[in-house]
Amino acid sequence: MQAVIITGLPFITINGESALRFDIPALKLHLFGSVIWMHEFYLILAASLFFLLFIAFVTTIFGRIWCGWLCPQTVLLDLANSFAGVAGKKHGNTVQKITLIPLSALVSITMIWYFVPPAETLSSLFVAPLITTFFLVLWFIIALELLFLGRRFCTSVCPYAMLQNMLFDKDTLVIEYNVLRDSECMKCNECVEVCPVGIDIKQGLSSACIACADCIDACQSHTIKRGIPPLPNYRGKIRRPKTYWLGGATAAAATTLLLLLWSRPPLDFLITRDNAPLPAGVNRYSYTIHNNSGEEQILELSSPDRVTLIGEQTLHLAPFSAMHGSILVKPTGKLERLHLRISGGAISLSREAGFL
Ligand code: SF4
Ligand code: SF4
Repeated sequence: MQAVIITGLPFITINGESALRFDIPALKLHLFGSVIWMHEFYLILAASLFFLLFIAFVTTIFGRIWCGWLCPQTVLLDLANSFAGVAGKKHGNTVQKITLIPLSALVSITMIWYFVPPAETLSSLFVAPLITTFFLVLWFIIALELLFLGRRFCTSVCPYAMLQNMLFDKDTLVIEYNVLRDSECMKCNECVEVCPVGIDIKQGLSSACIACADCIDACQSHTIKRGIPPLPNYRGKIRRPKTYWLGGATAAAATTLLLLLWSRPPLDFLITRDNAPLPAGVNRYSYTIHNNSGEEQILELSSPDRVTLIGEQTLHLAPFSAMHGSILVKPTGKLERLHLRISGGAISLSREAGFL
């Protein structure tokens, strides 16, 4: 399910744009029908704060739920393993490795879709050198990682795994073998055989455990017949004070981010006076307009001052686009401060700058 969501998200369009995509040339993030420009530091800060609190909340309370159930590597290896299982013991290993090669290509192209719209990526693949190079290099690196590093990545390189060790506390949800019931263990070792990271849960908690729960399922297939719970099982407390204050802080950060996004004006308008040499009495002003809305904007550039504007004054802005331009200003009377206005429909924004 999570693989379908991650692969399908760039194909979902809201206001004509991918639900989640970072547009590198325009330096803007398309975020579920809204757009965040890189100069909007307060939004980037709010989004980063929410993200960090969310990671801290999920990891502290639910442990390695991401690693065992949501991590793309886990999903890909589990998928390849299920093909290997169908192929049987003799050819399973070969089938698993062969399956990982096209899956790596899918991951590579999915990563590009988060930067270049899917339709553009597909039409440019093996045509545009940049996209083709990125696709092939990523494919090669991902395939190497999955084929030769696999689960060892989790215990050696993965930065999230290292972060978890700092966030865990005594009540974090973990999978643990119940040593008090050791006499009930049949020593069949199936919990060890199914473990994807090759650890023996009976030896105690291990930082390599990704909480996939395969050992619980393996043990349960025996214990269910005896009417007893499996010996490896979840241990931890979900409902506790930390759940509420950390969860509350995460919800507050999410609400703040949404309020900041929703309360933004549909347009941003900035002007600066240029220092370029010009005929006496004439000033030039550069302007930048950001269209934060999903609608095209047709705007008139004007000034309430006694001036003549020389340059394009009717401006067309595509949805979620930015426009940079300049205009010459010649006063018809004394002028110390210039006011420039953009207006269209219900929108009217005014900015001022000095006049020399
Ligand atoms: S010990 Fe159990 S939960 Fe942990 S990785 Fe191995 S099989 Fe998964
Ligand atoms: S699968 Fe269960 S019964 Fe078998 S060795 Fe592991 S803990 Fe013991």
